[in-house]
Amino acid sequence: MNESGLLIVLSGPSGVGKGTVRKAIFSQPDLDFEYSISMTTRSPREGEVDGVDYFFKSREKFESLIEQGKLLEYAEFVGNYYGTPVDYVRETLDNGKDVFLEIEVEGAKQVREKFPDGLFIFLAPPSLSELKNRIVTRGTESEEVINNRLNVAKEEIDMMHLYDYVVENDQVEHACEKIKAIVVAEHCRRERVEPRYKRILEVE
Ligand code: 5GP
Repeated sequence: MNESGLLIVLSGPSGVGKGTVRKAIFSQPDLDFEYSISMTTRSPREGEVDGVDYFFKSREKFESLIEQGKLLEYAEFVGNYYGTPVDYVRETLDNGKDVFLEIEVEGAKQVREKFPDGLFIFLAPPSLSELKNRIVTRGTESEEVINNRLNVAKEEIDMMHLYDYVVENDQVEHACEKIKAIVVAEHCRRERVEPRYKRILEVE
């Protein structure tokens, strides 16, 4: 029997660059994980291809897939549905391959409930760690702007508790390297490796 693959979930606040980081990761050769193509009701942007970037669906079709339990998670984001096809994820994991999801935070929360053993990576905006500097050197910023920024930062930091790792998206290449390193490390975790060794003993 194949060992099950790892479910890798990359998420984080809107505008942090999840899509850019995901595309950069998947543009690299010799990658060992599979990207789960999402479904969406939004219209394709220029250059986007059905079945490559997304599976583009009507609202009616999407809602019927929800009813049939065909989505691992879904969320409404800026007036459109986005969701992860469950069959692809389960089949790929069962075949022993890692599956990579790049989804917004509501969806990630749903996946955590269903796959507590998944690897949850939070992509954080560099503005969070720069925040203190910006506040100290505020000079030009109005109090309102600063307060808004602090509120956004608070919400973003509050989101982190559902995740196993936090990667700051300071530079896309750095973020990609960190994410790949986290996946490698995760595969070496004792809890994941030990059962395999125990099975070897059972055979003898
Ligand atoms: P965009 O329309 O820019 O491609 O994506 C908008 C947002 O939807 C991004 O934050 C992206 O991560 C998120 N997203 C893409 N696919 C899924 C999905 O299958 N499920 C959820 N919950 N969010 C998704």
